[in-house]
This record gives sequence, C-alpha cells and structure tokens, in this order.
Amino acid sequence: MPLLPLAEAQAHVLAACAPLHPSAVRLGDALGLVASVPITAESSVPPFDNSAMDGYAVRASDTVSAPCELTELGTLAAGASSDVVVGPGQALRIMTGAPLPAGADAIVMVELTEPGSSPGTVRIAEEVQLGTSVRRAGSDIAAGDVVLAKGTVLTPGVLGVLASLGASRAPCHRRPRVGVLSTGDELVAPGEPLGPGQIRDANRPMLLALVAQAGCTPVDLGIVRDDRTALVEAVSNGVEGCDALVTSGGVSVGDFDLAKAVLDELGEMRWMQIAIRPAKPFAFGVVGGVPVFGLPGNPVSSLVSFELLARPGLRALMGHAEVHRQQVPAVADVGFERDPDGKTHFVRVRSSVEADGRVHVAPVSGQGSHQLAAMAGADALVVLPDGDGVNAGAEVAALLLG
Ligand code: AMP
Ligand code: MG
Repeated sequence: MPLLPLAEAQAHVLAACAPLHPSAVRLGDALGLVASVPITAESSVPPFDNSAMDGYAVRASDTVSAPCELTELGTLAAGASSDVVVGPGQALRIMTGAPLPAGADAIVMVELTEPGSSPGTVRIAEEVQLGTSVRRAGSDIAAGDVVLAKGTVLTPGVLGVLASLGASRAPCHRRPRVGVLSTGDELVAPGEPLGPGQIRDANRPMLLALVAQAGCTPVDLGIVRDDRTALVEAVSNGVEGCDALVTSGGVSVGDFDLAKAVLDELGEMRWMQIAIRPAKPFAFGVVGGVPVFGLPGNPVSSLVSFELLARPGLRALMGHAEVHRQQVPAVADVGFERDPDGKTHFVRVRSSVEADGRVHVAPVSGQGSHQLAAMAGADALVVLPDGDGVNAGAEVAALLLG
C-alpha cells in the first residue's frame, strides 16, 4: 500500500466531520463550545451611566477653582437609585457602579477629597474634566452590536459577556460525545492480575483524557476482546450512543486484526498507511453516520495519531475553524538526526521559552513507539521532514500539545 501524505489523510477525515447540530446550551455547560450563529446584543451594557470610582458626583464646572468646597447631598451606593439632582456647588458621595445622578457630569475620586471646613461639606483638591470617571451607558456593549461572530469560541470571558447581556444559554454546536474503546486479547483492566503475555490497557485512559482535553465528552466503552461478536456489539453500541468513536489497536497488518474486518462489515472504512513516523497505520470511516477513528495500538503511536488525525476531526465536529495544534518556529537545541525513509517524523520534545525569547526544543530520551513514559514528558512534537535531519541551532517547526 503506498504511503499517504498526512495532509491528504487529514483532509479525508475533515471532509466527513461536519459541525454537529446547533442547540441552546446552558452557559455553565458551554465552555469551549463554538457559537453557531452571530449573537446580537438586545440591550446595552452598562445599562446606565455610572461611576467608575468611589468618590463624589459633581458638576465639572464647579471644580475649575479647585481647591474648593462643595455641599454634600448624601451617599449613593451601587444598586441604589436616587432622585437627587446635583445642583451648582453641590456634590453627592457615590460608590463605584452607582448610577450617575441627574445634574452631575463628572466624578472626583475619593483620594482627591477630604472633609470640608464645616460639617456637610467636602473639599475637592483638583479640577476634573467633564466625564471624568463616568462609565457611559453602552460603553461596553451597545444594543444592536454583534457581540459574537459565528464561530467564536466560548471562552470564560465570552461566557461573561453573554451573562452581562442576561443570557442563560448560548446557541452553539453541542459538545460531541466520543466513545473510546481498546481492542486486544492481551489487554488487562486495572485490578485484574497480569497473566503471561498480558499488558495493561494504557490507551483507553489516555485517549479518554485526550478526548476531554479536546473539549468533547469522553464515553468509556471498555476493553473489547479480539472476538468478532464482541467487536460488532461494542462498535454498534458505540455508534448508537456517541457522535464519534475512537478505537485503538487492530489497524495494522497482524493476523488477529479483527477490528479491521468488523469495521469494514459495519461501515465505510478506509485503511491507510500514512507517510509519518510514528503512527503509520490509521483507519477512518463512517459507521451508522458516526465518524470512527481507528488508531494504532502502540501507545505513542496512538497518542500521535490522535493529535494529528482524530483531534482535528473532533474539533471540526465542534465547529472550530482552527482544528490543528498550533505550530510555532523553534530552535533545535541539539541535532535531530534521522535517515530518509519517505516519512515525516514527529519527534517527541520538551519545549521552553529561553532568554532569547524563542521556543527551544530538545527530544525526550526514548523515541520508541512503545515508550509512553518518555512521551509523557514531552509537550510538543517537532515536525522533521523527510531527509537527513537538522543540526543543532537549526529552526524547526513544533506542534504545541496540551
Ligand atoms: P495492534 O495495533 O493491535 O497490533 O497493537 C500494537 C501494539 O500495541 C501491541 O504491542 C499491543 O500489545 C499494543 N497495544 C494495543 N492496544 C494497547 C493498549 N490499549 N494499551 C497498551 N498497549 C496496547
Ligand atoms: Mg491488537
């Protein structure tokens, strides 16, 4: 089978991952989701002119002769309202956020005031300009403004904006439920003894966490034996209750790669050999209308395959425009050696921003596709194009993880 360029495999995945149907999601559940329509403000924020400081509401023209003394009218707290009109020579003590009283056109902050020479007066130390420390109605958001473009990611700040407008829900693409299952007779769940030839199932907890980190809801579908009936049942159940499925194991060319046969039977799968290392074998297809990502079993390959192929697909289901990990230029602190083999290598590296302000990278020790412990210390992947590698000091491209 000819090796497929990574970009082609990614395009193939993305073509089958349209954003999920929009729905009105409660703000508390919407972090990281994507707005499905533009959102227009129906009201202004703040809704009224108010004070930006604790101080005194005054007429700016009264302070021209500062230092000067004004007559105190009382106090206005945030959340209160008052019919008091601030006339010439008068001042109303006011708290941050309280509405600007009629007649006043500026705030003198409390630090520029002190008690006047007689009771009921306040001494103003400096002149203030018209509008000083006044927050105008609509100066944050004006009614009619488009506050969120379609495609905006609902960050904590954006959720705050929606709440400031009185929204309790946001129209967005709902969060995908993503089923994760491991395949293989050799896999043993935690708590069970390890028999001869058996290993622990490292991939499932790792992939469940990667799914959550991608912003989706992980659904644990367990370990499935290399058994036709068990696989058919697990995959059928999975696609019924989930918006996407991530499997690991059984996509290479081994004799017992039943997953392949079963997935082919259930849906439209494409089995790929991608021109990358690690994570060459990869399967993708649609089973019962649900995208299925078949990742290789080797844990490091599984993780890299998830990052390069499954995560972009899941992000596309969420409606994200940016689906790939951020790629930044970085300085290779040591030489990255390799031999030409027709593949792009993804080297697991540790990155840091150094005194020169640039990102520097060095490989973690242990680059074997079974060496998950070494991978766990990496926070980026260096994209090393086919060829002989690069010398220390060269600029390389790094994909930032996490
Ligand atoms: P496979 O892709 O099924 O041929 O598996 C390739 C290698 O990955 C084998 O050494 C498997 O034992 C190992 N492997 C498969 N699934 C897992 C898993 N869930 N956790 C840890 N290792 C695994
Ligand atoms: Mg297997």
